[in-house]
Amino acid sequence: MKREFAVIGLGRFGGSICRELSREGMDVLAIDNDEDKINEFKNIATYAVVADSTDEASLKELGIKNIDHVIVAIGDNIQASILTTVILNDLGINRITVKAQNDYHEKILNKIGADHVVHPERDMGKRIAHSIISNNILDYLELSDDHSIVEVKASRHMIGKTLVDLDIRANYGCNVVAIKRGTDINVSPLAEEELREGDIMIVIGADKDISRFEKHLVID
Ligand code: ATP
Repeated sequence: MKREFAVIGLGRFGGSICRELSREGMDVLAIDNDEDKINEFKNIATYAVVADSTDEASLKELGIKNIDHVIVAIGDNIQASILTTVILNDLGINRITVKAQNDYHEKILNKIGADHVVHPERDMGKRIAHSIISNNILDYLELSDDHSIVEVKASRHMIGKTLVDLDIRANYGCNVVAIKRGTDINVSPLAEEELREGDIMIVIGADKDISRFEKHLVID
């Protein structure tokens, strides 16, 4: 099923979203107030239009009300990002995703009707920091202010041991919710599951517990 999207702001982030949605065969309306950017996306997006998104009349004229999901990817100009979000909310857009530039911007966006606020630089920084802590940490995803999910490669000392042997829950307070083995994924693995070389565990827990678990992985 094709869904309609609009991307406002075609910098590196918005441009990348626009390219990927288009590649996936979605209908995308690309909006930017810079004509050069629009020329760049003419052959990529379904429609590419020069417009100032802080001008409500222009957005109405573009038929933005009929769009299911609008992504606001104006970063540097926080005022324009906020104003655009307010207008989209007033127009009753079903889903509004906005890129935040900093924590203060994020707080405001949450208050003025953004359904989903993303903070790609901060999140990517955190993910990279965790993968730097240990080579065994492959990915890190924040679930809330104090809970996360990590993807962890079974370390040398874990191979051949079962989840009971390791007792990650008792030792670190985290839960192994799945084990990836090649292309297979074993959701809710049994306690008797024995870890093999190359296995990847998906571990969920409070940040303080995940942090203890990660420190243990550094030692390995
Ligand atoms: P990124 O970090 O994603 O690369 P950037 O720093 O390249 O972003 P920004 O200045 O944050 O770019 O803005 C992203 C895009 O939003 C730019 O292409 C800019 O022309 C566009 N833009 C800024 N203000 C408006 C506006 N009021 N209406 C429409 N487009 C806008």
